[in-house]
Amino acid sequence: MENKNDVAQEELTHTVAQDVERKIVLCYRCLSCYDLNNAPLKTVTGLKNKEPVCPNCSCKVYCS
Ligand SMILES: [Zn+2]
Repeated sequence: MENKNDVAQEELTHTVAQDVERKIVLCYRCLSCYDLNNAPLKTVTGLKNKEPVCPNCSCKVYCS
């Protein structure tokens, strides 16, 4: 019985499902692109939550 194709299809689906959704944004200040998932987090004054900032200039304003 030939089921090679079925196995390959299963592997492909698995790879796609594992792929993390990327959120590429453009820094407003230095115009560099960075991924929000990989961006350093910075505590914002007045807020409990940390916000992702630009790895280059630590600016938290970005264009998505
Ligand atoms: Zn920047």
